[in-house]
Amino acid sequence: MSKEPESSDVVTTSQPDEDFNDPGQRFYRVHLDQLTQALDQVSIEDHVQLLLGEPKNEVIVNFPVKMDSGEYELFTGYRIQHNNILGPYKGGMRYHHDVTLAEVKALAALMSYKCALLDVPYGGAKGGIRMHRHKYSDSEIERITRRFTHDLGNNIGPDYDIPGPDMGTNSQTMVWMMDTYVNMHATIDKNAKRRIVTGKSLTSGGSRGREKATGQGVVYAIQEWANETGLRLDGATFTVQGFGNVGSHVGQLLNRLGAKLVAVQDHTGTIYNQEGIYPRKLAQWVDSEGGVKEYKGAEQIDDDEFWAVTCDICVPAAVELQIDEEVARKLDCKVIAEGANGPTTLGGDRVLRERDIDVLPDIMANAGGVVVSYFEWVQNKRSETWQLQEVDNRLNFMMKRAYHEMRAFSREHSVDNRTAALAVALKRINKVYVERGIFP
Ligand code: NAD
Repeated sequence: MSKEPESSDVVTTSQPDEDFNDPGQRFYRVHLDQLTQALDQVSIEDHVQLLLGEPKNEVIVNFPVKMDSGEYELFTGYRIQHNNILGPYKGGMRYHHDVTLAEVKALAALMSYKCALLDVPYGGAKGGIRMHRHKYSDSEIERITRRFTHDLGNNIGPDYDIPGPDMGTNSQTMVWMMDTYVNMHATIDKNAKRRIVTGKSLTSGGSRGREKATGQGVVYAIQEWANETGLRLDGATFTVQGFGNVGSHVGQLLNRLGAKLVAVQDHTGTIYNQEGIYPRKLAQWVDSEGGVKEYKGAEQIDDDEFWAVTCDICVPAAVELQIDEEVARKLDCKVIAEGANGPTTLGGDRVLRERDIDVLPDIMANAGGVVVSYFEWVQNKRSETWQLQEVDNRLNFMMKRAYHEMRAFSREHSVDNRTAALAVALKRINKVYVERGIFP
């Protein structure tokens, strides 16, 4: 991958020491540069630009956990709270070996803009633990999660900062967090505090439709794009990088609309089948085998070949900074639908524009997760249970609205979708700051 230490004009008070070998710092820099491009398109107060350049709070905890072997290991956990002018901080918890302060700072900022674009009354946050997730047993993950939640203490709260799932975490992780938090904070009103996290299992207070929500939102965004461009999804082809929560649901939902999954890449390898890969069977294989490698219904190809596979729709749904200039030149597709956060670099975006490949940017395309997390939180608050159809209808409405707001800005200002999506979000945040002012 080519490295792109491109400059940023966003004024920040402090920045992590720059080391472009650290993917987290490169990602943070890419985010600031994307923000700068959007700020060029809208009139945002100087003090708002200044405060958005850095998160409000950075919480770092180091904590020991007893392993199955009886030995102790020390973990570093992060919770970065970027902005809460629109509502409580909201964002996922990531367990991955690449988690760094800089990475989580960028992801937290993206959450602020995602919530603003979707008009969800939340601010932005993100957290996580730097760890090789696959090395640990379930009981070790439970102890790590409970101790992390304990050490975050009052830095999270059901109306203050509400974690959700992200890479390496799932509904079980959220239930452990919730259970630890309510046992630490509640006496008789334990159920009232269940909304401390979203993405819980249905039995523990989750929402119908939350598990597939991010993938569902990506598919709603693709449907809007297909309507606008005239692509028939029935018979279209697509590829997916990452076959976890987001990627596997995109795979299954697009397949239901008649689209054919032709290649998948994850951390174990890359598979290809021109005749189509059956996403449901692949999801079962990944559940039992831990990855797509050696799946019987497709041939194994080199990882390098993945991006060059001919298709209509390419869905990055894994990690950051995957589509740089070099990869963007290889791509043979009509649209990139960003299931992942931050999968495209600035240079990647430039080449995609030159090559007329459309991009449905992360803060719009993968917002389904936070939207249905908001629905879960509202249901918990009101002691309600919504039917799946109601969740899906509301999600569809909000995804469509965000898509068309982004497209309208893009047409009016002749800018790409990413710049437009960020600009719409920035305008919404700026408006509130102008009305409320800065205390004192
Ligand atoms: P997950 O842990 O369920 O799955 C991650 C997938 O990425 C796995 O298939 C893994 O094998 C693959 N992967 C990891 N490293 C890789 C690499 N170097 N190359 C190729 N594949 C790799 O995670 P998820 O929840 O599906 O999240 C995936 C992306 O979607 C992340 O960027 C996350 O921030 C974003 N996202 C998730 C949600 C959500 O609700 N879960 C919401 C919005 C955005």
